[in-house]
Amino acid sequence: MPFSKLGLPPALINGVKAMGYTDPTPIQLRAIPVVLGGGDLIASAQTGTGKTAAFALPVLARRGKHEARGPRVLVLEPTRELAAQVETAFRDFGRFTDIRATVVHGGVGYGRQRSEIQAGTDIVIATPGRLMDFLQEKTLRLDNLKILILDEVDRMLDMGFVKDVKKIIGMCPRERQTLFFSATVPPEIEEVARFALRNPARVEIGVARTVNKSVTHAFYPVSQLKKFDLLTALLEKTDFHSCLIFSRTKHGADKIARKLKSANHSVAVLHANRSQSQRVEALEGFKSGKYEVMVATDIAARGIDVAGVSHVINYDIPANPEDYVHRIGRTGRAAAIGDAFTLTTPDQAGEIRDIERFIGQKVPQLKLDGFDYHSAPTIGASAAGQRYVDPRSVQHKHRQGGHGGGHGQGHGGYGGGQPRQQQSHAPRPQGQGHTPQQPRPQGQAHAPRPAQSGQGHGGGGGQPAPRKFGGLSRGTWRPH
Ligand code: AMP
Repeated sequence: MPFSKLGLPPALINGVKAMGYTDPTPIQLRAIPVVLGGGDLIASAQTGTGKTAAFALPVLARRGKHEARGPRVLVLEPTRELAAQVETAFRDFGRFTDIRATVVHGGVGYGRQRSEIQAGTDIVIATPGRLMDFLQEKTLRLDNLKILILDEVDRMLDMGFVKDVKKIIGMCPRERQTLFFSATVPPEIEEVARFALRNPARVEIGVARTVNKSVTHAFYPVSQLKKFDLLTALLEKTDFHSCLIFSRTKHGADKIARKLKSANHSVAVLHANRSQSQRVEALEGFKSGKYEVMVATDIAARGIDVAGVSHVINYDIPANPEDYVHRIGRTGRAAAIGDAFTLTTPDQAGEIRDIERFIGQKVPQLKLDGFDYHSAPTIGASAAGQRYVDPRSVQHKHRQGGHGGGHGQGHGGYGGGQPRQQQSHAPRPQGQGHTPQQPRPQGQAHAPRPAQSGQGHGGGGGQPAPRKFGGLSRGTWRPH
């Protein structure tokens, strides 16, 4: 069904067209009619599914006429980046309307946000902390509110905003429409939902546990000491367009960035200790191509929406399996294609198993052809903040566990104690667009996929199909 059949007004259909969208995504198809009908909604959908438009479009359609008494729509977001992005989305979709939207978040001065609120705004997109400040000083009143949206509710509660969120809900008029968007809906969210929503419709887009099929992903086992060397080798041998590297810690992110800079990469860093202006600069620079690499932590990276991230590298395996799906979802967004590599160390069999169980599939373990796994590291034992683990002790542990000895084997765990087959691959020749140098195993998993109307991933033999970036993720939505 095209957008034009969903009951949205012409100005918004034109806004959608200007974004280059042709067909609604599944969450848009299912959520837009519910929201247009005025009902409450709980939608389980993660970022990357098109959920922002799923609420922004019908909310723009229903927001009514501008009134000086205060905002009619409030959107709560867990992070500044998400808040800023969602505001941009409202402006983009509403470009042919007279929408007035204001973003309210911490990390910047109060002055501009205060004067925008005082000048009168229709839609406020806010993080809970700064919003509470404005509510307490009574710069902002919610008496006129008609629609309340909580986006990424699970993350908002994880980040400890539950008290503020409940307070804010309590300050909204009882007569209102309320929408919850969350990747998962655990019991804590059900509890908040019970007091915030009335007979909500439920829309579930069952991708919370799956890795987008347009992303190929693999583990790269390596010793702690050689992690940074493997990272640089992967970057060298991969023809990436823009690469997002995840570190578990802020300190680790800074270290990785410093080392990559000294290896002549253009690098941005994004984590919670960076100032707001540094965060904006990093994100803008990464989007514009000024930085080819961005090193980020999970929280800061939540919701990063950069069209055409070609590669995600988990320098550190994520602390929980849900983050694995989320991090990998930063590439291959909407209809685009991407690759994701995760460096794993011999002590991480448990984490590997948890991820594979969570996503319900085994992830291939690869060796980078031509990389010397055994020589001394070039950058010393403290590589990018890693703890030193004696490789001998690790090998011993694995032999005892019956997983087969030798470097890089026996990390599987989830496979009935069978030694994991490890594949190696030769880097592809240079200079063939975006795919060719992509490290790939012989035969499986990363084998070239059939080209799909110009978005091929290497092409089925012969010439690799050219890979497009940038505008691509705003093209036709293909359900996977
Ligand atoms: P979201 O899940 O809202 O973060 O959206 C993920 C990405 O998909 C963003 O880059 C959107 O611009 C893009 N997108 C959203 N809806 C569509 C659509 N109907 N067709 C193509 N791309 C879309």
